[in-house]
Amino acid sequence: MTNPRGPRAFRPSRVFMGSLSHGEDLLAGLTSICRQEELRSGRIEGLGAVSKANLGFYDQERRTYRSIELASPLEILSLKGNISLKEGEPFVHAHLTLSDASGRAFGGHLALGTVVFAFEYVIEAWEGPVLERRFDETTGLFLWEGGGGL
Ligand code: ZN
Repeated sequence: MTNPRGPRAFRPSRVFMGSLSHGEDLLAGLTSICRQEELRSGRIEGLGAVSKANLGFYDQERRTYRSIELASPLEILSLKGNISLKEGEPFVHAHLTLSDASGRAFGGHLALGTVVFAFEYVIEAWEGPVLERRFDETTGLFLWEGGGGL
């Protein structure tokens, strides 16, 4: 029998490079590309800057995201994310590392309310099995079946 927590194999199919518009919501913009291109699985990375950020930190005891609001211009040192399905729709899960004028870094789970100053992305789309997020009783999160990414 296959291990439900084991790795699943995918094949790269297409690679997209592009940028989001000034003033666009970062998470909504990435999600909209994935829906438009009907991407079911893949990987996202990006660089740029935001005029403000809204990040999440998952409180493991309360089982809810705490909001981290950063209301100033910041560099995006790194955005890393993945694409899978949630309720049958492409869903972007991304984390962000940002830095301020003194080079100090902040980070967290990318949430709506993060506004693009400038942003360049690479999205790798993959073909393979359907990877669907489902509610996980143990963590309170929507995880890949059999466990996976917070
Ligand atoms: Zn996360």
